[in-house]
Amino acid sequence: MPEQPARERVKNFTEVTTGYTLDMAVAEAARCLQCKKPVCQAGCPVEVPIKAFIGHLQKGDVTAAYKAIRETNSLPAVCGRVCPQEVQCEGACVLAKKGEPVCIGRLERFTADEYAARSACEQLTGDKACPMIREELKVACIGGGPASLTVAGYLSTLGIKVHVYEALHEPGGVLVYGIPEFRLPKAIVKREVQAMTENGVEFHLNWVGGRTITVQDLFDEAFQAVFIGVGAGLPRFLKVPGEDLTGVFSANEYLSRANLGRAYAFPEYDTPPFPGKQVVVVGGGNVAMDAARTAMRMGAEKVSLVYRRTKNEMPCRLEELEHALDEGLHLEILTNPVSFAGDDAGRVTGVTLERMKLGDPDEAGRCTPNCTGEYFDIPCDLAVIAVGTGPNPLLLEATPGLKRNRRGYIEVNEDTGETSMPNVFAGGDIVTGAATVILAMGAGRRAAKEIARRLLGSDAPQDVPPLHGGVLEAQD
Ligand SMILES: Cc1cc2nc3c(=O)[nH]c(=O)nc-3n(C[C@H](O)[C@H](O)[C@H](O)COP(=O)(O)OP(=O)(O)OC[C@H]3O[C@@H](n4cnc5c(N)ncnc54)[C@H](O)[C@@H]3O)c2cc1C
Ligand code: SF4
Repeated sequence: MPEQPARERVKNFTEVTTGYTLDMAVAEAARCLQCKKPVCQAGCPVEVPIKAFIGHLQKGDVTAAYKAIRETNSLPAVCGRVCPQEVQCEGACVLAKKGEPVCIGRLERFTADEYAARSACEQLTGDKACPMIREELKVACIGGGPASLTVAGYLSTLGIKVHVYEALHEPGGVLVYGIPEFRLPKAIVKREVQAMTENGVEFHLNWVGGRTITVQDLFDEAFQAVFIGVGAGLPRFLKVPGEDLTGVFSANEYLSRANLGRAYAFPEYDTPPFPGKQVVVVGGGNVAMDAARTAMRMGAEKVSLVYRRTKNEMPCRLEELEHALDEGLHLEILTNPVSFAGDDAGRVTGVTLERMKLGDPDEAGRCTPNCTGEYFDIPCDLAVIAVGTGPNPLLLEATPGLKRNRRGYIEVNEDTGETSMPNVFAGGDIVTGAATVILAMGAGRRAAKEIARRLLGSDAPQDVPPLHGGVLEAQD
């Protein structure tokens, strides 16, 4: 797929890849063998009908391709850009064994983008005539990330009124505050949200579940079901000396400032940037990669990624790693920070790293990083910690009836997404821990289906694929 040259793109926040033209998409689709048993579909957590949509693209029929995708996926323009396809659909494609799988994600992205000019209703439903919203059927979503957006999109197309309560001033969750513009343009998320608004979904922004509104308040206001999709946005830290120095950020804060606050466009936007010349990013997942590539674009001279295993174990998307290396990312693999040093003003000046070596595989099959007792220092004036997140306690503590597991995430019925509280559902990262967009969407779809069944009875649609696919602990 065409992309901006690394030397140019590292200076801007415009999307790295520029997307297929219709001719390119038809040519790529032509590589699909239209297998009798499309194993690629089993590799997709929401079972996009890949064979059918690519079959339509082979004939150049974008509308039919889009409608096929929309049968199971409500955010195809997003998934086509951010799914870890190499371990999902493309990893299962039979051509992967011969070397080059069909670029399913890119074709999905092309189809969604190409179709985007259509009306909102048609985008959401595939039909020109949307059902009338029945105001008496009311569902609330707390949190406005991909899990809740999927619930809202699905239920609104069935005529159910959905209200989304989001703590931040923009809906979209990680899609707007975490993943940078150069990877997922915010206009795409806005487009999907706009389509939902036009379809009757109401977004209430700057509402904090557990503070400005509680689950009980919502039932008191005659909502029949509540979906909790508040993500797992509480940053984890290394707990090493010097981590409280000025210039050491959690990835959440660093990326939120850059993305949601648009610090990269300062002074056009009010958020001041925190430019670093020598930057250290700790972690090996998508979050670490996004922080490192953002720092490069904010003017860093050198960005080092500190990771305690090797390149092979990094859980980030392969394409992100390749793009980051092309852009000049420096890898400090098999290293682990033990302390940060600072100057008299309390600003970070460097980090001490311990060399690690790989030991035996753990239960999950990943090699354990072991200490060696060898240390070295590297200078830095900005450090970003991207070693994972946990559940934010705000809503959970205000809702004592919610049963949680030993890691602090909400426990749900795996078939319906219902929590220990009747008619309260949950899905996405707040149930699984930090995972992927498509898994959050799969969970949203499953819960939405159950809610529709309860509210609409036999009028509810039956077709929702089971949730499967591995949870990716993105940063570890
Ligand atoms: C930087 C970064 C890069 C990533 N890259 C990828 C990628 O390339 N591919 C991929 O598949 N996955 C990626 N992920 C993971 C993916 O984004 C998440 O798994 C997914 O967004 C989870 O969706 P969600 O709806 O459960 O939660 P979120 O997207 O976290 O959304 C939750 C929303 O709830 C809001 N909220 C929280 N508490 C409250 C409250 N009390 N009241 C009201 N609202 C609240 C939050 O503000 C947020 O908007 C990335 C994650 C990060 C952080
Ligand atoms: S949603 Fe993701 S995993 Fe499924 S077909 Fe699309 S790109 Fe592949």
